[in-house]
Amino acid sequence: MTSDIRILIASKGNPAALAEGFKKELPEAQIFTDLAALDRGPVPYVVAGKPDPGVIASVPGARLVLSLNAGIEHLLEPGAVPEGVEIVRLVDPAMTEGMSDWCLAVVLSWHRNLPTYRADTKWTRRTEILSQDRIVTVLGAGTLGSRVARLLASIGFQTRVWTRSGRAVSGTESFAGPEGLRQATTGADAVVNLLPLTKETENVLNAELFARMARGGFVASAGRGQHLVDADLVAGLDSGQIGSAALDVFRTEPLPQDDPLWTHPGILVTPHVAAPTQAGSAVRIMVENIRRHRRGDPIPELVNRVRGY
Ligand code: NDP
Repeated sequence: MTSDIRILIASKGNPAALAEGFKKELPEAQIFTDLAALDRGPVPYVVAGKPDPGVIASVPGARLVLSLNAGIEHLLEPGAVPEGVEIVRLVDPAMTEGMSDWCLAVVLSWHRNLPTYRADTKWTRRTEILSQDRIVTVLGAGTLGSRVARLLASIGFQTRVWTRSGRAVSGTESFAGPEGLRQATTGADAVVNLLPLTKETENVLNAELFARMARGGFVASAGRGQHLVDADLVAGLDSGQIGSAALDVFRTEPLPQDDPLWTHPGILVTPHVAAPTQAGSAVRIMVENIRRHRRGDPIPELVNRVRGY
């Protein structure tokens, strides 16, 4: 008997490996990895990486798109996912752990001057500031940002969070809205960006924000490349207003070899590895969401198309 749990894996990554994972976790499902191989029967579930435009719209009977990523801005492009088809983003504790590791690594490396000592061969002792005397602002305190902010606060940093709703995160000071952004970033020694990309958050890391930070501050961004006005960061670094930056995400990925961000001495580039999708746990989470959908139970992390995340 053929199953009515039919899943198309629309991923350019490694669809065969994902298909194996689904076969193991949901043996009753029928799995497809190629749009061209679909018959006319409905395929309610689409596992989506960053498929070509039009792919999801051509899946017959699609009802739920299960994103392989936490960020889903590409799935909200006009026509990418037809109205009425729900999108669930990936929320996986393994990714939250990965993101926390990356953020703590770059913040602590900046805080304790490690790149400066790495480049120094003269036994130059710098003033070492205590974490309790540094202000770190986390932009976005959802699944990822709230854990990062709590960890930074637990280390001792004076931690501020900026969200849309002004949600409370233990051990931190909360801010919301445009005025809140001004307050949260004024005098900040470091800003860590973990926002989703929406119309409201695009270009949020700009000259105005950098100018409000403490002189010589640190900027880390693992949200999306479009959050950062690249030229403003380079100008901030060149003027000394910004001391250094760590970037995991870029407007064009892979970052082109001739991009000046690669070679700027104040910038650490990592190749979008802060919190990679972990296939094993991701498949288990998606299977659980498919089961919820079939039972008619609420699915956490459904994307709100109006809000944009
Ligand atoms: P969530 O949706 O859980 O959290 C988003 C946070 O951003 C929330 O706190 C939300 O506020 C806040 N926010 C959204 N819009 C605004 C706004 N206009 N003003 C102020 N705050 C706003 O997302 P995640 O934490 O799961 O992921 C965040 C982003 O991280 C992803 O969208 C993706 O771009 C990026 N990412 C990067 C990865 C990498 O490897 N570099 C891996 C995974 C994700 P509120 O709490 O009020 O809703």
